Amino acid sequence: MELADVADDLTEVLLTETQIHDKIAELARRVEQDYAGERPLLVGVLKGAVMVMADVARELKMHVDMDFMAVSSYGASTESSGVVRILKDLDADLEGRHVIIVEDIIDSGLTLAWLRANLESRGPASLEILALLRKPDAAKVDVDVKYFGFDIPNAFVVGYGLDYAERYRNLRGVAVLAPHVYS
Ligand code: 5GP
Repeated sequence: MELADVADDLTEVLLTETQIHDKIAELARRVEQDYAGERPLLVGVLKGAVMVMADVARELKMHVDMDFMAVSSYGASTESSGVVRILKDLDADLEGRHVIIVEDIIDSGLTLAWLRANLESRGPASLEILALLRKPDAAKVDVDVKYFGFDIPNAFVVGYGLDYAERYRNLRGVAVLAPHVYS
């Protein structure tokens, strides 16, 4: 779906499909260099990261494995609860693997900090994070994100995997959700 198809629900377009595509290609080139001769395991966090995962994986000119994990996040609210629960665990064994966590957005950073510690305890050979979007608060938290795409303002955004009450995930770009939708 195009951003224009739900223009009334959005206040500002932050990223177009082209901008996202170009940035993902740039990040993929770095991953190819850093993991030359390896076969990294991409770990996507459902459901928000599906679009980033699909595009990063297809952009990479190398063999990769893909696995998914689901953890609890905002639900239908727009604020982080800070509580992380595994809803679906990985199928893959991380022992000795070069793992890259693929995330859509880092807000408070709580989810990623928890996830990194959890996956680190499973004995990977290396563990890095790729995240498309980063909000201002994330900069204050000590999560080391090796590959990140864009810094965005502190607003609730939807599109490109990010939802509000399960809607808008299929938007091709990223935009700020209009307050009238959730108030
Ligand atoms: P954190 O733990 O970093 O505060 O939040 C991470 C998760 O919260 C993300 O993976 C995403 O699911 C959700 N999230 C954070 N900010 C936004 C936002 O602006 N829009 C949407 N749709 N989800 C968000």
